Amino acid sequence: MTHHLVVLGAGYAGLAAASRAARRLHSSDVRITLINSGDRFVERIRLHQLAAGQALREYPIRSLLAGTGVTLLVGSVQSIDAAAQRIEVQTSQATSPVEVDYDTLVFALGSRADVSAVPGVAEYAHSVADAGSAIRLRNQLAALDAAGAGTVTVVGGGLTGIETTAELAESHPALRVQVVNDVAPGNWLSHRAQQHVHQAFDRLGIDVRSGTVVHGVQPGRILLSTGEQLAADVIVWAAGFRVSELAATAGFTVDGRGRMAVDRTLRSVSDPNVYGIGDAAAAQVGDAVTRMCCQTSLPMGQHVADVIADQLTGRTPTPFRLRYVWQNISLGRRDAVTQFTHADDSPRAATLRGRPATLFKEGISRGVMVALRHPGPYPPAVRRRAATGQPNRGQESLEK
Ligand SMILES: Cc1cc2nc3c(=O)[nH]c(=O)nc-3n(C[C@H](O)[C@H](O)[C@H](O)COP(=O)(O)OP(=O)(O)OC[C@H]3O[C@@H](n4cnc5c(N)ncnc54)[C@H](O)[C@@H]3O)c2cc1C
Repeated sequence: MTHHLVVLGAGYAGLAAASRAARRLHSSDVRITLINSGDRFVERIRLHQLAAGQALREYPIRSLLAGTGVTLLVGSVQSIDAAAQRIEVQTSQATSPVEVDYDTLVFALGSRADVSAVPGVAEYAHSVADAGSAIRLRNQLAALDAAGAGTVTVVGGGLTGIETTAELAESHPALRVQVVNDVAPGNWLSHRAQQHVHQAFDRLGIDVRSGTVVHGVQPGRILLSTGEQLAADVIVWAAGFRVSELAATAGFTVDGRGRMAVDRTLRSVSDPNVYGIGDAAAAQVGDAVTRMCCQTSLPMGQHVADVIADQLTGRTPTPFRLRYVWQNISLGRRDAVTQFTHADDSPRAATLRGRPATLFKEGISRGVMVALRHPGPYPPAVRRRAATGQPNRGQESLEK
């Protein structure tokens, strides 16, 4: 009987995990199913570009999986029954959910915009956190452009907020773009990097409104903590991500933000048959927990594949280690800033700015796609046979 490894979510983390596990394990011992809501890989780190009107390259997931033997099941995960080790997936073909049993589960459902934190955001604001929302925003901006004028307000001065604000301002010079944030956008960056962001915002004609908190969103306006109201034709919510409730509902231990709590081998702290990776999981790295970003998700996906392969082949898995090196922030297509960081993600003084940072960021973004196509390990490891007597569905934990 083959062991069934099921990976939920084909983002940076889940796709890397499934492809790499397939290269580490024998298909006669372990079959791998990857479940995702769509059949296209979404390059989330470019969604602000999509919203700004640029065409993104299409990546059918099946072509990224070519030759791996991984089965893609397209459908939306509805529920996880941890006791029965069973997933319910709603596909477009079936009227009732399909049941998928697993021996080992990897939870990699990523994140989406946190539109429930402030009243009115879900109804009246756009986001760039998923492809559908980015396309709706793109269409709205095109209509505003066609009208010849209008105001776009981005709420959020973090990485996504800065990138989105700059991208929209550069692509829509006829529109007035403003950003609203409680503190100055990019306030965690080094002085030099902050200066560069502010200069880029000035050059692009972006109005910055900081020192105020958004309390509500209504049609065509934003309500501020100061009692003021800001008129806006299009409102973009870029003030935080939230994760799927599925991990918490299934009874897995989660942190205060609903991210699956995992140990140093990325295994759920409450269920030995389950692993959590990417934005959807919180792993300890040094004194901090992993940041929600591609820079974390891809290595988590690669590492969990090695951990599972080690577990199934009777080896001792190594703990996940991550040293952050930089934060890359695009400021439109012709400018960027790279903030080099300490291992714990805190900023160093060193930065790259302007053209070198633009080229660097583009190179990294392309490199991510290369890594997903060629998930390693390098040099190629021999496909390991599962240790005899490895538990299958319904048997005991792998950790014996
Ligand atoms: C505009 C933007 C710019 C960004 N820029 C950067 C950057 O420059 N650098 C960086 O490091 N990070 C960046 N990020 C963050 C980065 O994109 C995320 O951290 C990363 O995508 C997380 O990867 P993941 O695999 O955990 O999840 P995702 O990439 O979100 O993948 C999760 C997958 O699960 C699927 N899924 C979700 N729910 C279900 C369900 N119920 N059933 C079936 N499938 C489901 C989704 O469709 C998706 O395919 C950016 C994010 C945004 C939005």
